[in-house]
Amino acid sequence: MHLMLTDKNSRPGPTQVRVGHALFGGPDVIAVAGPCSVESLEQMRIVGQRLKDLGIPCIRGGAFKPRTSPYAFQGLGLEGLEILAEIRRAFDLAVITEIVGLEQVEPAYDYLDCYQVGARNMQNFPLLKALGGQDKPVLLKRGLAATLEEFLGAAEYLLAAGNPNVILCERGIRSFDPQTRNVLDLVAVARLKELTHLPLIVDPSHATGRRSLVLPSAAAAVAIGADGVIVEAHPQPEASVSDADQAISLDDLTAMIRQLDAVAIATGRRLAALTGG
Ligand code: PEP
Ligand code: MN
Repeated sequence: MHLMLTDKNSRPGPTQVRVGHALFGGPDVIAVAGPCSVESLEQMRIVGQRLKDLGIPCIRGGAFKPRTSPYAFQGLGLEGLEILAEIRRAFDLAVITEIVGLEQVEPAYDYLDCYQVGARNMQNFPLLKALGGQDKPVLLKRGLAATLEEFLGAAEYLLAAGNPNVILCERGIRSFDPQTRNVLDLVAVARLKELTHLPLIVDPSHATGRRSLVLPSAAAAVAIGADGVIVEAHPQPEASVSDADQAISLDDLTAMIRQLDAVAIATGRRLAALTGG
């Protein structure tokens, strides 16, 4: 069989993907944080200031939300992108944000530093082909029930279309127990590290669906070798317009950063500071 571009043996070493000041897949562990949805400039300023204070280089926040119900908040759209761009400028943070359709690839380009492809779009092949033709990195989330072969196949679409800057994200897979929103597949992290040279981060927020489980899951992800984590954090977690149950407070985020640095050190790494890269 033809050697896949995602295959670890297709390259001499790990792929490193730069997003603003962050280098994913480099020597340091990267944290990304921010709310599920961009709700207001004020909300994002509070989050941006905390990220800046903590040395977190990338902010997340959805302007286009893939919601289960069409009646649920769908995101602020272009207004949300404008808020993100303002936060990027004000705090020198890189912006990672999801686009949910092909028609958003071009209009969103100037507002973001990294496109996010959500779990529900992991096998949206026209979208993957279009993003493969872009010169900005892509954060590709694992589908709700995707095998690792399917996950890597989706990443292969991006690479085959010409975009080498792909970051994988394990965000939990569907199972039978409603105690957690999904099942965080930590062994997939270790297995993917054997299979591919691409950087890989973990989203303990969507994986667990409960704020109490986010910190221990993030620590475990770093311990098993993830290159970083992406977490949902909000100035008033209970008031989040989407995914309120899994949002952590900004003080919990501060505690998480300290804990993750300790775990990173235990595995021979550091948590990247803003100037680290
Ligand atoms: C998100 O990160 O905002 C999101 C919707 O996650 P997922 O696609 O993993 O469900
Ligand atoms: Mn969310």
